Amino acid sequence: MLLAVGNLGAAQAQTYTHQIAPGVYSHGTAQQYQSMFLVTDEGVAVFETVNSKHAAGLVKAIRKITDKPIVYAFHSHNHWDHASGGKVFQDLGAKTVMHEFAAKWLKANPGQDTSPPNIIMKGARQDFELGGVTIEAHYLGQTHGMGMTVYLIPKTKSIYIADLVTPNRVMFNVVPDFNIGGWQRALGEIKKLDFENGVCSHNENPAKTLPNGCDRVDIEEELQYMVDLKAAIIAEFKKGTADVAGAIKLPQYAHWAHYDDWLEMNAWRVMLDMYMGPFPWNAEQ
Ligand SMILES: [Zn+2]
Repeated sequence: MLLAVGNLGAAQAQTYTHQIAPGVYSHGTAQQYQSMFLVTDEGVAVFETVNSKHAAGLVKAIRKITDKPIVYAFHSHNHWDHASGGKVFQDLGAKTVMHEFAAKWLKANPGQDTSPPNIIMKGARQDFELGGVTIEAHYLGQTHGMGMTVYLIPKTKSIYIADLVTPNRVMFNVVPDFNIGGWQRALGEIKKLDFENGVCSHNENPAKTLPNGCDRVDIEEELQYMVDLKAAIIAEFKKGTADVAGAIKLPQYAHWAHYDDWLEMNAWRVMLDMYMGPFPWNAEQ
């Protein structure tokens, strides 16, 4: 279902594989789902399996580059539209990895195309080693879904980020299963990680989807959109506007995907979170 929603306007979707750093590749379909993979002397690590069809395409793309074994397949979080397809890699001998909160949720709520992970991470940080290359798994706390983890490859300064940053697009629709305050906090934490290139699971900037993946500017812009939306909501309240969400205009983002159809839904969601109290967080955030 989310695929269909995320697919709007992607009639001429193009599947691609692109090297973003030495040994690091993005693979996906423009404006749909993007994965990342790392090729080392000992084998391959995959970030985000998405679903069996996507995973099969990912295997093909990897095999065009290397015949080294696929050793790890890392999942970002629990949602079915991201965490499916792991079995494709398990059948090839890879170990799938996810955070314990995602694993626990998927055990209770298995999807048609999900499979239990081989390795369950715990806590805020765990490192993996493959062919002398370190992969850092950073669990970000309450942000979106369960067990949301970003992956950093310090050697190439590459990062994989699912759902928390989508270049060139407003927040997703009604902002489902996001903890707005936790999300803002996590974007601040992502900014502290030492990366220069990477892949975001969704990317509505065609120019970036193909050659560049996503980068620090995209994290800044995602954060700034959140700050600007909140400020606009407060400004309408101060004016005494009756329909606050409907009155919000952020023309500086008018070129972003789904500005016209999703901005008001974004405003409703952020406004109601502000009303209930958790956003913005007050203490030391
Ligand atoms: Zn998600």
